[in-house]
Amino acid sequence: MNVFSHPEFDNHEHLSFFCDPETGLKAIVAVHNTSRGPALGGCRMFPYASDEEALRDVLRLSKGMTYKSALANLDLGGGKSVIIGDPRKHKTEALLEAMGKHLDGLGGQYIAAEDSGTSVADLKVMGRHTRHVAGIVERTGIDGRPCNGDPSPATAYGTFIGLKAAVKHKLGRDDLNGLKVAIQGIGNVGFRLAKHLAEAGAQLWVYDIHEDNMKRAVDELGAKPAAAEDILTLPVDVIAPCAMGAVLNDNSIPEIKASVIAGAANNLLERPDHDQALKDRGILYAPDYAINAGGIIDVFYERTSGSAEKSRAHVETIGDTLAEIFRRSDDSGRPTGAIANELAEERFKKHVARVSTLPERLARAG
Ligand code: NAD
Repeated sequence: MNVFSHPEFDNHEHLSFFCDPETGLKAIVAVHNTSRGPALGGCRMFPYASDEEALRDVLRLSKGMTYKSALANLDLGGGKSVIIGDPRKHKTEALLEAMGKHLDGLGGQYIAAEDSGTSVADLKVMGRHTRHVAGIVERTGIDGRPCNGDPSPATAYGTFIGLKAAVKHKLGRDDLNGLKVAIQGIGNVGFRLAKHLAEAGAQLWVYDIHEDNMKRAVDELGAKPAAAEDILTLPVDVIAPCAMGAVLNDNSIPEIKASVIAGAANNLLERPDHDQALKDRGILYAPDYAINAGGIIDVFYERTSGSAEKSRAHVETIGDTLAEIFRRSDDSGRPTGAIANELAEERFKKHVARVSTLPERLARAG
């Protein structure tokens, strides 16, 4: 297995491989870049088929966090961790505690949060041995309601703000009254996004593999149910993919009738050049990691004891960031995904960290 010469290595600052035979813990932590601050990113637990697959995933995800936090102007770097194992079979308190001890040994250069396969409760178990875990503090969420650390309300609100910025840019309208929106995936983020849109007067079409999730949106928000094969190609103004990645691909792009794509799911483009394919068709694509940054922004405010109001105001800057990406794309003729990457790189490669020593970083992270 290659590490330094791995195709996804991209000059990562740090990689750790943890093994604890007693609990069965096998984990990798990747810290991509800390020029803006300590690396914050999810801890994913997944039954990877090989060590190679786990390494590839953690490197890609970790780099993605550097770009997401930099684009959101957060004083955070990018990192991620993966635990190799099936969360339904191999996740035990002892294993999570062992992970917490290992994370503590990294001294705060990486801070773990929830991800697929780990929950707020799991992070709290890790937190028995380290303070370098996030997304676990009960506080007032950005919607003014009690929040257990779940970033979904902030992600949904940021996606709503970003969708409005995209509609303003592409369709020249400020209000969403009567706007037609199709949402794929009515889960934690999708349902909340649907609620914001319904309150703003949008007409909604929804699809989810779980019938009860769809029914809730139909019953509570007046959304219309759609079929799996139609949801991304309905004759609507906006599609909002909020389920899984790689849905913008060679098959779907030629069939899309909406002129705006604004959804929260990660890695929406199957290949990086699919943003050019969307631009060629005149479809405005709000880059996924720009529009779905609300969650990481809110976790940052949790870490720094910032108020819900400050977090909300920061989440609202997602609209300004997207407006800048759309303007630069128009001016240069280049696709929005490429512009987002360029803007993020400007923000972390040229950034001179205001603090640089480990004790100072720890103080800020703590
Ligand atoms: P979730 O699991 O709560 O919701 C996903 C929903 O999609 C579920 O209701 C699921 O039934 C549905 N779904 C799965 N496969 C589907 C398919 N083929 N077609 C239609 N629906 C399908 O997850 P979430 O927290 O709402 O996150 C949604 C997306 O946003 C994910 O891609 C996630 O990575 C991304 N995201 C989430 C956050 C966050 O704060 N939760 C932050 C950034 C990005």
